Amino acid sequence: MVKKLLKQRRYLFTLLAFLASISLINISLTNVASRAQSGAPKIVATFLPIYMFTRAVAGEEAQVEILIPPGVEVHDYQATPGNVRTVAQADVLVMNGLGMEEFLERLVANAGNWRLKEIDASTGIEPLKDDEDDHEDDHDHDDHDDHDDDHDDDHDDHDDDHDGHDHAEGNPHVWLDPVLAQQQVANIRDGLIAADPVNAQTYRDNAEAYILRLQKLDREFEGSQLGGCRFITFHDAYPYLAKRYGLQQMAVVELPEDNLTPRDVQRVIAAAREFQVKALLSDSVEDRRLQQIAKQVGVPVKILDPIESGPADPQYYFQAMRQNLQTLETVCR
Ligand SMILES: [Zn+2]
Repeated sequence: MVKKLLKQRRYLFTLLAFLASISLINISLTNVASRAQSGAPKIVATFLPIYMFTRAVAGEEAQVEILIPPGVEVHDYQATPGNVRTVAQADVLVMNGLGMEEFLERLVANAGNWRLKEIDASTGIEPLKDDEDDHEDDHDHDDHDDHDDDHDDDHDDHDDDHDGHDHAEGNPHVWLDPVLAQQQVANIRDGLIAADPVNAQTYRDNAEAYILRLQKLDREFEGSQLGGCRFITFHDAYPYLAKRYGLQQMAVVELPEDNLTPRDVQRVIAAAREFQVKALLSDSVEDRRLQQIAKQVGVPVKILDPIESGPADPQYYFQAMRQNLQTLETVCR
């Protein structure tokens, strides 16, 4: 009796071990299967606007992570070992493209993730070249060309100041144009559908809702009559916005991160006076350099938000853009 029991127990033990190994195999198989077909693809977006657009399209169906935490400088970003792990485990990677994420090529190579699908949100968007090349492109695409052509050649004095902001593929700040933003959202939608066809309808519905809101935003900008508004900036982020609504970005004065030289200050003062700007437009209120210069010019510092940093919430795009519109209206009046 005892012997039989022992035998049974041994049998049971072997059976359990066998079952355990099967279920282990099972678990790893279901992991692969659920990633491939349905459920929640792991999506990684590079930085804030791309994260917001992706989050809006993906909705509840996906986990979306942001690679560059808001608040960290996006231009000249250096990837971290944590980024490599994140990309190694992701199913989809969404980027702005146009040379914005120069760190990405090496990061993706290091991650060695053979099943990673990449979405370039700027596919099909014709980039503007930085500065003096702008006007060469102006003739093909839209209705605001007439405002741009007359100033491009006159102000070559600031060309040398673009260190750290040279993008081989042209200016990457397309998300700041609500019309091009619609194309980015559509590209993200199409990429997510290709990567995760099971949830195609969700991606379509979500993208449509967000694009409708972008269209409304576009009408608000159109209706505001910013045409002819002259401004100078310290961050070459607004050529697409300017082109779309007929604003005139008169000069981009790039300043060193710290320790302004008297010459830097003079350049800003000269530009501000030449173009009779009513404010200095800064990325942030905490910009002590501009506060200092603004006092000398006798104009206030106002914020024009390039939306490279801020709350990681798809609604923030609209909030920031409407604030930008209001600021431009004040500055241009
Ligand atoms: Zn920028």
